[in-house]
Amino acid sequence: MIDPQSLTIKKLVDRLYKREISAVEVTETYLSTIAERDKDIGAYLSTEKESALGTAARIDMDLRDGREIGLMAGVPMAIKDNLLIKGRLATAGSQILKNYIASYDASVIRKLGVGGAIFLGKTNMDEFAMGSSTENSSFKPTKNPQDLERVPGGSSGGSAAAVAGDMALAALGSDTGGSIRQPASLCGVVGLKPTYGAVSRYGLIAMASSLDQIGPFTKTVEDAAIVFNAIAGHDPMDSTSNPFVSYGSDLLTPDFNKVKDLTIGIPEEYFGEGLDGEVASSMTSVISFFRSKGFKIKQVNMPHTRYGLSVYYIVMPAEASTNLARYEGVRYGVRGDAGSLKEIYFRNRGEGFGPEVKRRIVLGTFVLSAGYYDAYYLKAQKVRALVKHDFEEAFERVDVLLTPTAPTVAFKLGEKTQSPLEMYMSDILTIPANLAGIPAVSIPVRGREGKLPVGFQLMGRPWREADILGLGMYYEKN
Ligand code: GLN
Repeated sequence: MIDPQSLTIKKLVDRLYKREISAVEVTETYLSTIAERDKDIGAYLSTEKESALGTAARIDMDLRDGREIGLMAGVPMAIKDNLLIKGRLATAGSQILKNYIASYDASVIRKLGVGGAIFLGKTNMDEFAMGSSTENSSFKPTKNPQDLERVPGGSSGGSAAAVAGDMALAALGSDTGGSIRQPASLCGVVGLKPTYGAVSRYGLIAMASSLDQIGPFTKTVEDAAIVFNAIAGHDPMDSTSNPFVSYGSDLLTPDFNKVKDLTIGIPEEYFGEGLDGEVASSMTSVISFFRSKGFKIKQVNMPHTRYGLSVYYIVMPAEASTNLARYEGVRYGVRGDAGSLKEIYFRNRGEGFGPEVKRRIVLGTFVLSAGYYDAYYLKAQKVRALVKHDFEEAFERVDVLLTPTAPTVAFKLGEKTQSPLEMYMSDILTIPANLAGIPAVSIPVRGREGKLPVGFQLMGRPWREADILGLGMYYEKN
């Protein structure tokens, strides 16, 4: 018997090795949960029954014949629809790509495939990853499995909901300003944004290239470490992936004696106005947990935090507007290429992009225009350096920073769709880590059974995923 609710990657792989369960059985269980639940939740845009069962059967055969199986063998996964799987649709939540079939595998997909992961399907997302609620998907909204009247967060809302609703054991998302951590927080699962350059972006439909990172959603921190370990590493196909870093054994099996030596910093600026009472009190409980276990806790100041959101909404649209220039109706588009060049552009981009995407293209084109480049884009780059500098200074005094992930719990569908600014505020606490390129994880606060989930965020030094995940595992197991 398989109970998806209590299953983790760790347990699954153990039980597969002991031959207590088969990969086919596991895959069938998840596929039938999807068939039953996803009508109401809407996490998936497409599912892959046959190929999933085919991969599972192969793994069972390997196990039976005593062949070596990969570290992700038999793990049923959901993949955000901006990641390419060869031969499958990859829409990025947009009408302009509604018929686009990927011609190659993203590097993360190739790695997970070699590891034996089973791909159940592609998940819903805000169009081109622009949004914080998955309501900007041009196909359908996704609901929060904990409360169907509420949003799952975004933009990787489908992936978060798939894991939270036991419709996948793990999922991949992408995080440009919080799109893994914020939905993880709102749905009550773990979400990791790795250090910029730790995971190859080859085969990820780009939003803002200097901020985007791919990362996992899982039910436990330990599982997040397992998936991260499987997807991290240098890739010649992505010139920003780091060739010099290799992760040690402390990533998967931290030594808690060393973890206990980590100093935790609490940046005052992350606990300001706009924080829900419930979020604030949950943070107090997490901080008291670490204090009661004897961790050193220090107050730190990060004075440029308050410019993070403004800087992000200049840098991100600038990069997105250039990345999205390729959807011109000739190579990618919805309405064919008849008429003059200008007509082709207008028709395809006019009909293919939704309102939020257009808003950001206009904003990005404006901040990059000759007359305004210095005043906005260049200025924003300088302030970005100051935000990064705040982290460098903080990490001279402490090893890890602890903050809330999102200022609120999951909000109601439709509650923020009329006010882009209010929606943008959802990411005020997650954006700085993207600007600085540092690793950050959102972990569900314990003891909130029956209430809406709240996540806390741990941010660490570049390449020190082992610190934040080690501390997270300590929280999980003590
Ligand atoms: N919600 C933020 C935005 O709309 C972050 C998106 C993301 O991380 N992809 O830009």
